[in-house]
Amino acid sequence: MKNFFLALVTLCSSLLHAAPEEEHPVVILGGGVAALTSATYLARGGIVPLVISGPQMGGAITQSHRVQNWPSELEISGWDLAEKMRVQAEQNGAVICSESVVAVDLSSRPFLITTQGILDGKEKTRTIKAQSLIIGLGASPNMLGVPGESGSEGYFSRGVYSCAVCDGAFYKDKVVAIVGGGDSALLEAQYLSNLARKVYIIVRKDNFRAVEKERAKEILSRPNVEVIYETIVQEIRGDGDKVTELLVQNTKTKSLSTLSIDALFLAIGSKPNSELFRNQLELDEAGYIRLKNHQETSIEGVYAIGDIADPEFKQAISAAGDGAKAALQAQKFLTAYRTEVAQKAPPAPVGPAVIEITSKEHFAREIQNGEGAIFVDFYADYCGPCRMFGPTYESWAKEFNGRIKFLKVDAQKLPHLFDQYQVRGIPTMVILDAHGNVIRKVTGLQEIAGIHRKLDEVRSQSSIDPQSFKRI
Ligand SMILES: Cc1cc2nc3c(=O)[nH]c(=O)nc-3n(C[C@H](O)[C@H](O)[C@H](O)COP(=O)(O)OP(=O)(O)OC[C@H]3O[C@@H](n4cnc5c(N)ncnc54)[C@H](O)[C@@H]3O)c2cc1C
Repeated sequence: MKNFFLALVTLCSSLLHAAPEEEHPVVILGGGVAALTSATYLARGGIVPLVISGPQMGGAITQSHRVQNWPSELEISGWDLAEKMRVQAEQNGAVICSESVVAVDLSSRPFLITTQGILDGKEKTRTIKAQSLIIGLGASPNMLGVPGESGSEGYFSRGVYSCAVCDGAFYKDKVVAIVGGGDSALLEAQYLSNLARKVYIIVRKDNFRAVEKERAKEILSRPNVEVIYETIVQEIRGDGDKVTELLVQNTKTKSLSTLSIDALFLAIGSKPNSELFRNQLELDEAGYIRLKNHQETSIEGVYAIGDIADPEFKQAISAAGDGAKAALQAQKFLTAYRTEVAQKAPPAPVGPAVIEITSKEHFAREIQNGEGAIFVDFYADYCGPCRMFGPTYESWAKEFNGRIKFLKVDAQKLPHLFDQYQVRGIPTMVILDAHGNVIRKVTGLQEIAGIHRKLDEVRSQSSIDPQSFKRI
């Protein structure tokens, strides 16, 4: 399955690279729970979304070994949960690419997104146009930066966590520590003190920054909660498998001591991954994208979902809910946007278009009247990769301006033509010569991308020899 994903990533890159001016109705930034939910909703709504998943396919939830609060799953690993969501999105027709977004221009429409990724073994940059944008780039928890925290030797997600609601339940009747002196540390303490035997709160200063004084009083008076003021964590230690103790230092006396614990919860804030949108979208003081009505941002047609727009809850299920809402919002927006664009647009230029075959006789006529190479795209409306390929095929027809004839055949309308050409998968492209002889048959987007490379080679020729497409 992983190999299939990688193949698709390369493939969607090459096809999109082939038609740089290609415009997508919706581009979804991010490949986490929020983004994948949006992708499934849009694809099921008949819009093929392009998902730019970035470096962490599946997002933050993949760091969790045991998710126990996802509806319908008693327990599931975060990786498996994300993988199920990815498969669901793709099976419904979403196209997922693994590049990273490096720049975004929201100053005019369509929006421009610049990405970087590996294409044909080399790092490539490309720009994609989007009529509507859904942003789900998540947030990164702030880390202490001490030994034993992250990296291959570190305990992150094996005893060091950034979310008590997510992972606190594994420490029922155990001893835990929270590091942080703000409201989020208090909230974590409130949650954990209902589960753990003992909760230490390690605070750098001699007081709490927390603004909710009444709540602070109530939590700090709980018998199993103890605050250690003027202290910082110097090292997280364990037995290789789990956390066992912290090395802490008193900030005044500089004295070092150890504290035996089973888990450490970081409550020192997180940073939304919103730098790309600074000065383009309204952000709050902490950098979270400000929302208006149901995931709408300060620019119409741009939506933000999940942790990047949620300073408070940061849960997988709420991120998924955001994703669903943004998808439905984007669909509504697109209907209005397209009507507006159509009203403003000059009449479409008359040029060669892809010919939709309507019957067996029609097909025979087109072949008879053909000259040079004839391309036939065997497709179906329900096939996501076919819908992905459609605009590229149209752009080839325009570019080759009659030097190649482009036909398309719908699986649901003309199944006997599929049988005649023994088409067993879609999309399939059959290349014929002027007499209707099959020169080549390619199935799947990756093989079709190979034909694109061939088209590049013959682009400047005044007449195209069908034999150039023969497999060598
Ligand atoms: C260790 C851990 C355990 C957790 N456990 C639970 C739990 O048990 N239950 C629960 O409900 N929640 C849990 N959470 C919280 C939950 O994972 C998040 O709330 C949720 O994943 C947020 O989803 P998201 O889609 O908004 O962002 P994320 O999942 O963070 O996804 C962000 C996406 O953006 C992509 N990205 C980032 N930068 C770029 C870029 N420049 N270009 C392209 N893509 C980019 C990343 O590759 C990633 O795919 C846990 C979190 C952590 C860290």
